[in-house]
Amino acid sequence: IRRNPGEDEFHQAVREVLGSIHPVLVKHPEYAEAKIIKRICEPERQIIFRVPWEDDRGEVHVNRGFRVEFNSALGPYKGGLRFHPSVYLGIVKFLGFEQVFKNALTGLPIGGGKGGSDFDPKGRSDREVMRFCQSFMTELYRHIGEYTDVPAGDVGVGGREIGYLFGQYKRITNRYESGVLTGKGLAYGGAQVRREATGYGCVFFADEMLRAAGNGLDGKRVVVSGSGNVAIYAIEKIQQLGGIAVACSDSSGYVVDEKGIDIDVLKQLKETQRGRIRDYTEARRHATFVPHRRVWEVPCEVAIPCATQNEISGEDAATLVANGVIAVVEGANMPTTPEGIRIFTEAGVRFAPGKAANAGGVAASALEMQQNATRDSWTFTYSEQRLQQIMQDIHTRCFETAEEYGMPGNYVAGANIDGFRRVAEAMLAQGLI
Ligand code: NDP
Repeated sequence: IRRNPGEDEFHQAVREVLGSIHPVLVKHPEYAEAKIIKRICEPERQIIFRVPWEDDRGEVHVNRGFRVEFNSALGPYKGGLRFHPSVYLGIVKFLGFEQVFKNALTGLPIGGGKGGSDFDPKGRSDREVMRFCQSFMTELYRHIGEYTDVPAGDVGVGGREIGYLFGQYKRITNRYESGVLTGKGLAYGGAQVRREATGYGCVFFADEMLRAAGNGLDGKRVVVSGSGNVAIYAIEKIQQLGGIAVACSDSSGYVVDEKGIDIDVLKQLKETQRGRIRDYTEARRHATFVPHRRVWEVPCEVAIPCATQNEISGEDAATLVANGVIAVVEGANMPTTPEGIRIFTEAGVRFAPGKAANAGGVAASALEMQQNATRDSWTFTYSEQRLQQIMQDIHTRCFETAEEYGMPGNYVAGANIDGFRRVAEAMLAQGLI
């Protein structure tokens, strides 16, 4: 804490991982001798830069850009870019730290990193977003590359932003380096199922976890938070698997649609119009919009937070438990507070941490890199099968590792231990770096 003052989210993420791995250190004294913990908590490189840009009225703005290259023991740094006014070093480091273990869990050759800016794309025109992305890439380009660091999207960074970033990278470097960014459009090197992957993957994980305990998602009542990329495709897959997603949200409130959220209406509203969730009721008159409240007050059997960090407080967790929730599956990164996790665990609620449940996005990104490297493109069906297999494997790893360490059903411990072991082994093998 003294070394990284004021970085609250980073401290929280480190505490959460370190809280699980004591038994590994007992089993492997060589990790402690090599100071693996100290090394793993220190990013390999942190880049902070100025991003000046001009809005449509000619006014100049200055934002701050970040890229934290956390760990490259398993492969090139890999992780998204987040554009949101709340972004500062502590958020980027927490996301980068989580990413290291998440990427390890996928079993694919990718290290961990994260980046972004405190730029707020909300209400900005396409041209303003383009100018911002071009300025951001004008500094970032020198730090990234197919074999070095491969950014992707996250909150506030979707297909449009990745397109502008890629265009600027290509222009500056005069290289058509497809593998430098993932989440690209299908027209220029993107991969099938990348857009859907985090939401779909999270729901595949939920289904596996529920099956391990009895029955899958079929017939279950589900509440999802957020209405961005992860939330939309989580809802789509829930419905394909026979669940009913009755509510979703954005930062202004939530909607409840007892007939099930209409995915076409939601996509039209959020992906095409970039509108607010309150307007969902214009197309679905029977639905209700509840302003300024948290979606967790809507009773459900399965909760899938897909918005942001610390969005389920202890109080929200208690409400969910009182309303009969049986499983919580994190689509977002660290959406549940430590108090919330404690309440779920004590109540016997099955809990899937983000670094396992939302790893489908980065896994699909690694598959996009694979396709770019071989100049290949796979079909939707094949890509989805690969994703589903990866999510099943992650589930098995977390489940079996928790059993191996005498904590059956504890997916938090299973994910942290397995991810940590993989990174630690690679670091040891590569010497003191
Ligand atoms: P989007 O920007 O597409 O959507 C984010 C959604 O969450 C929006 O509905 C937004 O509402 C809401 N939201 C964001 N920040 C806040 C906030 N501070 N308070 C309340 N609501 C908020 O992002 P994604 O769907 O891509 O990401 C959602 C989560 O999933 C994040 O935690 C991200 O790190 C994680 N994730 C994403 C992956 C991906 O592939 N995209 C991969 C793995 C994890 P509003 O529009 O009102 O701000």
